Amino acid sequence: MWKATVYTLFPDMFPGSLGQSIAGKALKQEKWDLKTVNIRDYATDKHKTVDDTSYGGGTGMVMRPDVVDAALIANVTPNTKLIYTSPKGKPLTQNMIRSWLADYPDGISILCGRYEGIDQRVLDSWQESHGLEDISIGDYVLSGGELAALVILDACIRLLPGVLEKPDATIIESFELDLLEYPQYTKPQIWNNKVVPDVLLSGDHKNIAAWRKIEAESITKTRRPDLWQRFQAKSK
Ligand code: SAM
Repeated sequence: MWKATVYTLFPDMFPGSLGQSIAGKALKQEKWDLKTVNIRDYATDKHKTVDDTSYGGGTGMVMRPDVVDAALIANVTPNTKLIYTSPKGKPLTQNMIRSWLADYPDGISILCGRYEGIDQRVLDSWQESHGLEDISIGDYVLSGGELAALVILDACIRLLPGVLEKPDATIIESFELDLLEYPQYTKPQIWNNKVVPDVLLSGDHKNIAAWRKIEAESITKTRRPDLWQRFQAKSK
């Protein structure tokens, strides 16, 4: 079974939102498994200290390498993708999620930082030994890696076999094929004097597909020139 292992100082934040809706149902149905590791359990002094002041000065605290290392060693899950959530990491993409699921079918392990982050030496050491990768969920700073871990896990879980009732829906979603998705409409047909585009009521599937393609391309071009450039390059 695909397994998520989360290293955190706040294990009560899990499963959090992943206990609800699609991910929550799949968790109950044992389509994926969740293990949280409380990093504080690996502190060795009587105060269970996990952090200390920053060498070189600065206001914030830094998570100690020895404590984080002990937590990772005691719970290492072989053949899983190992991630450190970090604003300095590679920006998360749908392609990354798909490639991790393909390359690491056993699951994912996510290390969540707090305070000013984690001592660089333990990150370097796990990068060398287990290919740990820094991943960012966007250009902003969160108080901790737990929300980032929930985001990463949600994006993975909905792509696991048997989780979505209609998995084909994911093939045409935003970011697949480097395009944003076309606009979606449902009932009522007229709402607030706004109407559903005629073509969607026509029943002509060829025309509908053509309209959706034009809309997807147009929205991508305006909102995400970076994606549009990539899409165009691949279409050549
Ligand atoms: N001092 C760090 C810096 O400027 O890069 C930020 C530390 S942040 C307050 C604490 C923790 O939150 C980080 O160690 C990381 O695990 C997590 N975090 C914050 N922003 C994130 C982001 N955009 N993506 C992923 N994780 C993030």
